[in-house]
Amino acid sequence: MDANVAEDVCYICRDNNDETSITLPCKHKYHKSCIEQSIKLISTECPYCRRYVNLQMVRSLITYTRCKGIIKSGVHKGEQCKCNAKHIYNGYCGRHKKKDNIDS
Ligand SMILES: [Zn+2]
Ligand SMILES: [Zn+2]
Ligand SMILES: [Zn+2]
Repeated sequence: MDANVAEDVCYICRDNNDETSITLPCKHKYHKSCIEQSIKLISTECPYCRRYVNLQMVRSLITYTRCKGIIKSGVHKGEQCKCNAKHIYNGYCGRHKKKDNIDS
């Protein structure tokens, strides 16, 4: 483990981590999509310290919650929105951030 590493940057894309980011057992933090791509396309290891990691581990580490919005039209009517909730929207995704506006 390297204590000098900046805490809140995804080491793959070098962008700031957000609510979709996950922390691996080795304590390195990545966007979920970045580490998944890395595992699929490059190798089953942490790109930073090369500790073994696989997709199942990544998925079990996901901490963000799904949007609480219910889809009100179309083929997925009645199902829970599949987007990731954003903390700033109080548990809703960007599209569902207003409770009264979830049928668009
Ligand atoms: Zn990233
Ligand atoms: Zn690591
Ligand atoms: Zn939503």
